[in-house]
Amino acid sequence: MDSSVGFRHFFLSYVLINGFLRTLEAKEEVLLDMRAAGRELGWLTWSPSEGDSSQRDRTGWEVHQRTLNGSQFYTYYVCNVDEREQDNWLRTTFIQRHASASRVFVELQFIVRDCNSFDGASLTCKETFNLFVLEADADVGTTFHKGQFKKVATIAPDEITKKNEMHINKETKVVENLSRKGFYLAFQDIGACVAIVMVRVYYKTCPATVKSLAVFPETVAGRENQALKEVSGKCVENAESQKIPQIYCTLHGEWVVPVGQCRCKPGFEEVQDSCQECQPGFFKAEMSSSNKCEPCPANTQGLTQGALFCPCVNGFYRAPKDPVTGPCSGLPSAPQDLVATPSLLSTGKLLLSWKSPEDTGGRNDITYSVVCQRCEGFGCQPCGEKIRFDPASTGLTDTKVSVSELDAHFNYTFTVETLSGVSVFGSSQAAPRAARLPSSTTLTTSLHYTEPPKITSMRLVERDSTSLSISWDVSPQPRVLARPVRYELAYRKKDNKHDVTTYVVLKLEKNSVQINDLAPDTAYLVKVQAFSSDGRSGVPSGEEQFETSPEGQLNKTAVILAASVGGAIVLILVIVILFMRRRNGNSHIRQGPEDTYFSSSEQLKPLKTYVDPHTYEDPNIAVLKFATEIHPSHITKQKVIGAGEFGEVYRGILKASGKKELAVAIKTLKPGYTEKQRQDFLSEASIMGQFCHQNIIRLEGVVTKFIHAMIVTEYMENGALDRYLRDHDGEFLSFQLVGMLHGIAAGMKYLSEMSYVHRDLAARNILVNTTLECKVSDFGLSRVLEDEPEGTYTTSGGKIPIRWTAPEAIAYRKFTSASDVWSFGIVMWEVMAFGERPYWDMSNHEVMKAINEAFRLPAPMDCPSAVYQLMLQCWLQDRSKRPRFGDIVSLLDKLLRSPDSLKTIADFDPRVSIRLPSTSGSDGSPFRSVSEWLESIKMSQYSENFTRAGICTMDQVLQMKSEDIKNIGVRLPGHLKRIAYSILGLKDQTSTLSVFAV
Ligand code: AMP
Repeated sequence: MDSSVGFRHFFLSYVLINGFLRTLEAKEEVLLDMRAAGRELGWLTWSPSEGDSSQRDRTGWEVHQRTLNGSQFYTYYVCNVDEREQDNWLRTTFIQRHASASRVFVELQFIVRDCNSFDGASLTCKETFNLFVLEADADVGTTFHKGQFKKVATIAPDEITKKNEMHINKETKVVENLSRKGFYLAFQDIGACVAIVMVRVYYKTCPATVKSLAVFPETVAGRENQALKEVSGKCVENAESQKIPQIYCTLHGEWVVPVGQCRCKPGFEEVQDSCQECQPGFFKAEMSSSNKCEPCPANTQGLTQGALFCPCVNGFYRAPKDPVTGPCSGLPSAPQDLVATPSLLSTGKLLLSWKSPEDTGGRNDITYSVVCQRCEGFGCQPCGEKIRFDPASTGLTDTKVSVSELDAHFNYTFTVETLSGVSVFGSSQAAPRAARLPSSTTLTTSLHYTEPPKITSMRLVERDSTSLSISWDVSPQPRVLARPVRYELAYRKKDNKHDVTTYVVLKLEKNSVQINDLAPDTAYLVKVQAFSSDGRSGVPSGEEQFETSPEGQLNKTAVILAASVGGAIVLILVIVILFMRRRNGNSHIRQGPEDTYFSSSEQLKPLKTYVDPHTYEDPNIAVLKFATEIHPSHITKQKVIGAGEFGEVYRGILKASGKKELAVAIKTLKPGYTEKQRQDFLSEASIMGQFCHQNIIRLEGVVTKFIHAMIVTEYMENGALDRYLRDHDGEFLSFQLVGMLHGIAAGMKYLSEMSYVHRDLAARNILVNTTLECKVSDFGLSRVLEDEPEGTYTTSGGKIPIRWTAPEAIAYRKFTSASDVWSFGIVMWEVMAFGERPYWDMSNHEVMKAINEAFRLPAPMDCPSAVYQLMLQCWLQDRSKRPRFGDIVSLLDKLLRSPDSLKTIADFDPRVSIRLPSTSGSDGSPFRSVSEWLESIKMSQYSENFTRAGICTMDQVLQMKSEDIKNIGVRLPGHLKRIAYSILGLKDQTSTLSVFAV
């Protein structure tokens, strides 16, 4: 593509994207009008015969007067067809040129007689005449030297006038590059029969206009060979613009490509090319693109004109985080139907539940908080920290909470309060409390539950040689619920020789028993378990030992003493065990793996600034410092997945000892490398090893101590982002694409905070994993100079990927995080356009020229307006005005949190943005086949669908509607649109061509 076509195309892109092509008809400023003069103009005639007495009867141009419909018409006429070597001149009067009009139009109406209509004159007769021009700084009067005139054009009729008929020809010629104060035009007749009926001389201007709220002055079109004249304008009153609004005036006197829109200031809206104050009841908070005041939102009032926002009406509030442009809300009412249900499954636990408040105040950030008070006698006091709330006592979004660790038989008062974003704010308002809705509900309940009975002590009451009388105590049971408790007592001989322990079980109704028929002088182990009346079992007591007395003896005191000593020993044992456990526990914490983990992650904390490995005298030391050495035996290469600058890139497995297998990418250094190449290769690892961020490709380690040096990084299953998006064209929602951009921006934010300038941020250098997480990669130091496939040599010798690089970095190698932001804007465009090549097939030169002339890439198809606006911000010429990566991350984060913000789509023109050769094939001829067309719009995969549906000619394609495209099996929305838009473009052939001709 030659450069002028490229420029035209790009220029057109911009024109269309701005939805604006020909705003106003060009204005014509007339310098001379033969007809309007209505009189003889006194033009000079000259013929060689003048002054030659032998030729007195021969005349040159003559003036003829005619009257038509009462008006006088003058025509100049010459008709010396039967004489040779005619040279008759007709010169206009001096035409003053407007100071800046260097290009004038000469509109002619004339009649030429058919030479054949003159008998015998056809040999000498001519059917054309010539137009000449002579520039001068002053009127030279009747002085005439034909040699001073410069030929402009030969004027030939489209239709000659035959006998009995008359054809008036119209022709407009352009006289360019005029520079002196005025000029003469002259018509030279060389033997034709001509009548000049009308001559009109004018120049064109782009008329004064207001466009996008900017006023542009009337401007003369076309000067000094300028096809486009850049004109600066001024915002109308009460409008502002970030940069001076500009527009171009074409040679044809048409305004095109307004740049830098003016917007009405806050409080003003656009009304017929002016900014007027918002009416009462309306507001405008910012210089928004809509330029319209919006009605005051719910529960606000707009009493004044020109409001920036509408204040809340009494009793309504905005939460601190509510946008000032949003509605105000009231306080929520109290929760309804608060009930407490004791838990059946465990004791001391209540389930509080309630219904949502009747009035949420119009908000959806309702939460509840529960306050517990315990009431005894006359007073209540906070329940204290012992009480547990599950999930919590505040910030509840569910209408229930479980309360546990409650004591039985107390009165508890639970107050559940409804809160919303405006609650705190609302409470501090001066509005009278009584006027507000009560926001809490209180419930008093007492918890009556039966704790499963527990055996608290067991004692020997009486014994003899064959019986033991034992009694025990149970945990106190509520009097109110003093329901019967049952017991099971089990006993066995202590020295039971059998493997199987057999108990004798007694079911009892009271807390004492006499066990008879025992063996004398024998130790028995006894345990008791209590059961509550509702069948719940308590914890069995421990086994206690009681001995029958030898035959005929009963020594109660001894038994009690023995029991006490035994108890004391058990107690000491328990204390010792607990102490030991605790010690072990502590030492575990001090030496356990968690501890090691924390200390190593401490080391991984990002360094403050990135250290250029070249600052190390020996780059090998930098590698050792920043990267872990891996033994090659731990690496298994599986498959080549790409080609890096220094050698192949493999997918493989890393199995370090004691660690799990890990899928990795392995970059290799091809054999025969020089030491310098090896160091350059490893420098990427030295850089990568300094980074630790979710969105930066992670370095696993390096192999440097063996011949085959390798760099091992985490494996990104979906490879490079540009290719991945191209392979999945149209398959993702804007939301997903913006999610990817958010990741890339987060990675870049991290890099910029480390003061690392990437210099080659492009979708091809972003890697994608299976969860669509995007990570920045490619940190080679040499790449900017050598490896970049997109690199173009600059005059200073470096290689720069022009279409991704900020102008200042191209112009004087000013690479900064701000230039990375520019590249990020291009990556945004690549992502939103599913991997489309930025600036399509324009040459690097064309791209630079267009950028310097303030053109920017148009919005990709379906690109949310907010995202496109951000791109444009990244491409601000003044790098200090570009957003920082921190701002970009926050903005993308905001967009992702309110997906509605992605619904407004930026203006898009299919013929431009997807760069469809919509009118013809690449060579300019119409598409010869459906498959050629599909290929040109990168939709060849549907060739078969078209054939199967019997659509074999382009004529048939032109008849297709969206429905038909769907029906033949094109389902993906992106593809559907692409095909439909292309058909639209094909149909719109004529208008597209005229647009290209601008
Ligand atoms: P590079 O030399 O970093 O540009 O890598 C060349 C190609 O290898 C890339 O375009 C990717 O297709 C592939 N590649 C590099 N690193 C990885 C990785 N970590 N995971 C998956 N593919 C990778």
